[in-house]
Amino acid sequence: MSLSENSSTKMKSKLLMGPGPSNVSRRVYDALATPIIGHLDPEFLDMMDETTQMLRDVFQTKNKLTIPVSGTGSSGMEAGFVNILEPGDKVVIGVNGVFGERMSDVASRYGGEVIRIEEEWGRIIEPSRVIDVLKQNPDTKLVAIVHAETSTGAKQPLQEIGDYVKGTDTLLLVDAVTSLAGCELKIDDWNIDICYSGTQKCLSVPPGLSPVTFSDKAVDVIEARGSKVESWYLDLSMIRKYWGSERVYHHTAPISMIYALREGLKIILEEGLEERHKRHQMVGDYFVEEISKLGFSLFAQEGHRLPMLVSVVLPDGIDDDQVRSKLLQEHGIEIGVGLGKTRGKIWRIGLMGESCTKENVDIFIGALKEIIS
Ligand code: PLP
Repeated sequence: MSLSENSSTKMKSKLLMGPGPSNVSRRVYDALATPIIGHLDPEFLDMMDETTQMLRDVFQTKNKLTIPVSGTGSSGMEAGFVNILEPGDKVVIGVNGVFGERMSDVASRYGGEVIRIEEEWGRIIEPSRVIDVLKQNPDTKLVAIVHAETSTGAKQPLQEIGDYVKGTDTLLLVDAVTSLAGCELKIDDWNIDICYSGTQKCLSVPPGLSPVTFSDKAVDVIEARGSKVESWYLDLSMIRKYWGSERVYHHTAPISMIYALREGLKIILEEGLEERHKRHQMVGDYFVEEISKLGFSLFAQEGHRLPMLVSVVLPDGIDDDQVRSKLLQEHGIEIGVGLGKTRGKIWRIGLMGESCTKENVDIFIGALKEIIS
């Protein structure tokens, strides 16, 4: 990795191998430096259309309502819940890590009557458990689950849940903040009604936008609401009038971030989605092979491990804070600490987008060997 220096901030670039942000390509940095134009300038409106079409391609959906929400991944999460839920609505949520927990918190703040399906961290939630709960609660408005649980490294199977929900009035909401563009995710084929992601993971764009997509079934539910959406800023019934043909001003679009997202999406589609998924899987497998040789074991459930976020259990004798600090200070490499109950017990190694190369794995393993030997 070449460490370049920005002359005004003196900030050196680092190798980002944590849970996000991931490294950003020169092309995306250049896009960020494009001159600002107005958010209603016809040239910008064309760019918006181009961006939403590419987002549909990456989400593998035909959903008309597919846009980047202004804000980080959590804004997409809030947009998903606040636009659908009205006080007293029943929501079933899978909780097997930090982000399932966050969904449960968000849903309850918007008045949802939350039914939690809990599972041990690192394990998936068996789809049959979710389906059983939905059968017992046929009046559930929304079932929500995290595809890539970044706090544990577990990859949740979704298709069976989507197939079940398709024949019901329940909507399926999926958190794909870490998985989008890093592993298979088929919004239409898997019958996912609402999905949100974040720009700073496998899209390799700086943090600041949350791509979201809503099926027609979900849009019908929004249109049938009896009460106003509780958040003005995230109210999609207004925001979609800016992204759609009406072009009605809602809030000033984060112009530079949309330039950056557009470039990031172009890069993804040039590589090809399938190729990109293969690269993540290949590099992820290589990383697992190499880290296992150093005595680290894997934390997430076998057969359900994410390629772009590998959670490893620290062997005895490794000082978590000291080793991570040396990696960052002496080698310019960032990795992720364990969250909550896994603090001090696991590391989370991100292999996302631009950061996901065999060469970066070798750099990391070399640095780690030097520190712990
Ligand atoms: N969901 C998942 C699975 C995440 O990994 C993250 C962030 O790491 C979020 C939601 C929240 O995204 P943000 O931190 O961009 O708001």
